Amino acid sequence: MTNSTILVTGGSGLVGQAIKAYTDENSQPGETWIFLSSKDGDLRVRGDTDKIFDKYQPTHVIHLAAKVGGLFANLSQKVEFYRENTLINDNIMENCRLHKVTKLVSMLSTCIFPDKTKYPIDETMLHDGPPHPSNEGYAYAKRLIDTMNRAYAEEYGCNFTSIIPTNIYGPHDNFSIQNGHVIPGLIHKCYIAKKEGTPFTIWGSGTPLRQFIYSLDLAELTVWVMRDYHSPDPITLSVDESAEVPIKDVALAVAKAMKFEGEVVFDTTKADGQFKKTACNKKLRSYRPDYKFVSMEEGIQKSVDWFLANYETAR
Ligand code: GDP
Repeated sequence: MTNSTILVTGGSGLVGQAIKAYTDENSQPGETWIFLSSKDGDLRVRGDTDKIFDKYQPTHVIHLAAKVGGLFANLSQKVEFYRENTLINDNIMENCRLHKVTKLVSMLSTCIFPDKTKYPIDETMLHDGPPHPSNEGYAYAKRLIDTMNRAYAEEYGCNFTSIIPTNIYGPHDNFSIQNGHVIPGLIHKCYIAKKEGTPFTIWGSGTPLRQFIYSLDLAELTVWVMRDYHSPDPITLSVDESAEVPIKDVALAVAKAMKFEGEVVFDTTKADGQFKKTACNKKLRSYRPDYKFVSMEEGIQKSVDWFLANYETAR
């Protein structure tokens, strides 16, 4: 048995905390897991990143840290989204090469795929056309991870890869109504509606379709990628296409989990965003045909329970 030290960047976020919860129960003998947060250093700064690698001497890295934000942040700060993500990714990849890290898994996102595309989207289509202009700073910085994973493999024999999750939710999410994603936003809004006896408002028409992955499932699959998936080409980590759901069903599942019995309304003055972004998980299924995802109902119930138990401290 060889000892391994696994460094998780972005360790305090939604996915980082899910990996922590998963590995607290499922780590293998000889594994030491380190979860970094911004307090450990600024990954945009080469010197800070070097110090972290010198200190922990990781054998494996799961790279989740990134500058992320919603539509309006992306629109107004393209330079910062491009530069900060590029700096972080370059510091991490180059340190992984220099420290002979045996495996690097970096996180991409479905929102970096071409804007004009056919569905379902698969891993081979990442560079087939420009991303949506609203987030091109972020998208090009992230796409370069994939380009460089192959370059590092060719030139230095590095075992670097990337994962592409669909919409993620779970404990430790950002429950901000204004800035959060749909599930945590709906949970927070439903909580207020129940407390104040007001209607529960769903933004948009409720018809857009999404594939949601529960953060603990994503954690388990990410750890599996680190241990057993060895190709520089990205792999989509998503529920099946048949598990794609309309936002309305998501809202009703939130209302049920919250035991909300009041009125549910749609605010159609709010944007629907993309109608769908269906991702193909055939590649994942070729390796893990029997993997059973947590159902949306169960995942939402767990997220609601976590939110209620952590209301004072939740983001
Ligand atoms: P997207 O997958 O990048 O579009 O991210 P979101 O999670 O922000 O939104 C998904 C869909 O949920 C969109 O169609 C929104 O209009 C809809 N939606 C309904 N209610 C809410 C809400 O309270 N918050 C957010 N963020 N979206 C909502």
